[in-house]
Amino acid sequence: MNDDVPAKRESVSDRFKMIEGEIVKACQDAERARNSVKLVAVSKQQDEARIDEALKAGQRVFGENRVQEAYTHWETLRDSHGNLELHLIGHLQTNKCQSAWQLFDVIQTLDRPKLATAMAKARDVTGVDREIFIQVNTGEEPQKGGVVPDQLPQLLKLARQELRLSVTGLMCLPPRNEAAGLHFGLLNQLKKTFDLQFASMGMSADYESAIKFGATHVRVGRALFGERPQP
Ligand SMILES: *Cc1c(COP(=O)(O)O)cnc(C)c1O
Repeated sequence: MNDDVPAKRESVSDRFKMIEGEIVKACQDAERARNSVKLVAVSKQQDEARIDEALKAGQRVFGENRVQEAYTHWETLRDSHGNLELHLIGHLQTNKCQSAWQLFDVIQTLDRPKLATAMAKARDVTGVDREIFIQVNTGEEPQKGGVVPDQLPQLLKLARQELRLSVTGLMCLPPRNEAAGLHFGLLNQLKKTFDLQFASMGMSADYESAIKFGATHVRVGRALFGERPQP
């Protein structure tokens, strides 16, 4: 566990190297290839200078939790950096689905039938396909997004078979006050059961542990960019 976020004066590129080293080590410990894990740099609420530093350090995969803010950060950068890969990791309202569909390569937060239908519509209107992960509420917390594990088979069937969305993975955000490992283990198990490729789990405080439990995508914000401004 690595709960401490590095001091403010460290540069993004120093932190990037440190995190890369930790990922390499966690992969070795788990006897996994380094390229089986993708670092999603969570740039929400970060300023342009820090995002620019991450780009200069070579990072190309970024995560955002709000559609509008993601446009502010990435609409122009997207055109100047052809190889960017953008992931939506926050709740998506159906009325913003089409606009999300146009910006993001991967939407990690499908969590209800109505949104699946909106996604299929966005695909048909835009003529582009996107990769989708289903968010699973492994802790069954009422205030949190995601389908509860019991309802996952039904949502998968609708999304994959009926609407023919490209569902390739699962994502989770464990409860704050519980051992994350149990949730990581559960998500990895569900991924295998339903024959999916990807498991997005682990953040600044626990990405090394998530890799041991089989994470293919770790979503790291503060450990890479520094603390976000307080709201
Ligand atoms: C903000 C956020 C992260 C990154 O959290 P850090 O603690 O800054 O690493 C990861 N996943 C989701 C869904 C988030 O909203």
